[in-house]
Amino acid sequence: MEVLCEEKDCKEEATTRYQWPWGDEGIVCDGHRGHMVQLAQQLGRDVAFTPLHTTTPAAAPTESPELRLAKAKLLEQEQLLHEQAQTIADLRAEFARSVRAGRFAAQVDSDVEAPTASTDPAESHHATPSPPTKPQRSR
Ligand SMILES: [Zn+2]
Repeated sequence: MEVLCEEKDCKEEATTRYQWPWGDEGIVCDGHRGHMVQLAQQLGRDVAFTPLHTTTPAAAPTESPELRLAKAKLLEQEQLLHEQAQTIADLRAEFARSVRAGRFAAQVDSDVEAPTASTDPAESHHATPSPPTKPQRSR
C-alpha cells in the first residue's frame, strides 16, 4: 500500500505525518517535509513530524558474526592506512624541507646514482627444449 504526499501536484510517496499546533495535519514526502520545516521556522511555530511506517525501507540484512568481524577489521585497517598515509605525508614534507635546507643533499645525490639492477642471465634458463613434434626437414 502506497500513500502519496498530500501537497498539491505532488506524486511523491509520503513518508511523514505532520501536525501543526493548531490542528492541521496530513502526510508529506521528504521534500515537502523540508518545506514544512522552513515554513515552521518562518512562522516561529513548531510542526510535529511522525514517520509513517507504511513501507519499511529494506531492512538491513542480518549480518553473520564473521561478516561483522571482517567489516570491523576492514574499518580498523582503513583507519591504520589513513594514519600511515598521514605519517608518510608528514615525513615527505619534513624530508622536502630538509632537502631544501641542504641538509641531505649528499644522500639524495648518491640515491640518484645507485646502480641499476642488472638482469641475471642465469635466471632465464627456463626454456626447456620441447620434443620435436614434426620431423625436421633440414638437409
Ligand atoms: Zn510532496
